[in-house]
Amino acid sequence: MTTSTVKTNLLGLTQQEMEKFFDSIGEKRFRAGQVMKWIHHFGVDDFDAMTNVSKALRDKLKVIAEVRGPEVVSEDISTDGTRKWVVRVASGSCVETVYIPQGKRGTLCVSSQAGCALDCSFCSTGKQGFNSNLTAAEVIGQVWIANKSFGSVPATVDRAITNVVMMGMGEPLLNFDNVIAAMHLMMDDLGYGISKRRVTLSTSGVVPMIDELAKHIDVSLALSLHAPNDALRNQLVPINKKYPLKMLLESCQRYMATLGEKRVLTIEYTMLKDINDKVEHAVEMIELLKNTPCKINLIPFNPFPHSGYERPSNNAIRRFQDQLHQAGYNVTVRTTRGEDIDAACGQLVGQVLDRTRRSERYIAGRELNAADDLPLIAVNRI
Ligand code: SAH
Ligand code: SF4
Repeated sequence: MTTSTVKTNLLGLTQQEMEKFFDSIGEKRFRAGQVMKWIHHFGVDDFDAMTNVSKALRDKLKVIAEVRGPEVVSEDISTDGTRKWVVRVASGSCVETVYIPQGKRGTLCVSSQAGCALDCSFCSTGKQGFNSNLTAAEVIGQVWIANKSFGSVPATVDRAITNVVMMGMGEPLLNFDNVIAAMHLMMDDLGYGISKRRVTLSTSGVVPMIDELAKHIDVSLALSLHAPNDALRNQLVPINKKYPLKMLLESCQRYMATLGEKRVLTIEYTMLKDINDKVEHAVEMIELLKNTPCKINLIPFNPFPHSGYERPSNNAIRRFQDQLHQAGYNVTVRTTRGEDIDAACGQLVGQVLDRTRRSERYIAGRELNAADDLPLIAVNRI
């Protein structure tokens, strides 16, 4: 271990924080914008490459600051174009970032914590328990790494990353300040310039923090519902015992009201065979959500070893979708992507997987699409 003084990592600083930083070292505030563009638009981490910054300032920055993203442990590309990075964060744990291309859209799924304390019964991240909160630099660093891998582009050119969802590992509302700072950078023109509608925070329902969120930011919100009544949700999403459904939906309604535009809540519903996929569950859900303008995204369960759950048949998922659709809801089914590289929802465990396990998963994925079951791609209803 060296004993050198800790350098300020500029990667995770918002514009305001960056301006403060330059103020504090006796430099002009406009330097913040210059340096941020180098970092976020061009993926630069070497001060010497920042050619519009004077040599004297570059030398000063090299001594007191750094631009450091998490270490990339592996990068995999799926047969369907999905990419997955495993990155190591300061605590020593690994987390995952997934890029999902879909037509003109490119969605990056970003992690907020290593592990998760909330222990949802069907989630492999939850099974690991909590390890650490990511720093703001580690959260935005995932966007930085992905962006760099597509080749840095100036702000005026379309970027490969059009959307960001905080749906990787961890509960973003339990790492509040760092996630908020990183989301500001995602939206800032000096950062990644992504519209507020295209940055989505997903939560399992930390009610006080949903209320807090509205005071800081106006990103889109997704709620991981997974059950239409408290008894079942208590089993699947234990935080429901603390913040039950009524309280939760009211806080989501309050948040959505602050957005003040035609923006609707996304409801995520992981479908578990014989657990939450029956006709009566859809009936209850229709009743539960009648006062909450929303769109519903059904996520077929992604299996992992010893989960104890199964994915419903595609026909069962379609029946459920049809029922909600007939009640007037906009319902999509999330098609599983990147299964051959273990990049699907709930399969993120922060490990570099060996080839054997990968091929097992791939075959398992294929078996789910047996000829007697309609492919899900054909059943999306908007
Ligand atoms: N902690 C946040 C965000 C990360 S999880 C949350 O819970 O909302 C992102 C989404 O994947 C959540 O809706 C989560 O419930 C879902 N998910 C977790 N494990 C899954 C699995 N094995 N199969 C399908 N979806 C899963
Ligand atoms: Fe945590 Fe979300 Fe997984 Fe629940 S579903 S354990 S909140 S990461």
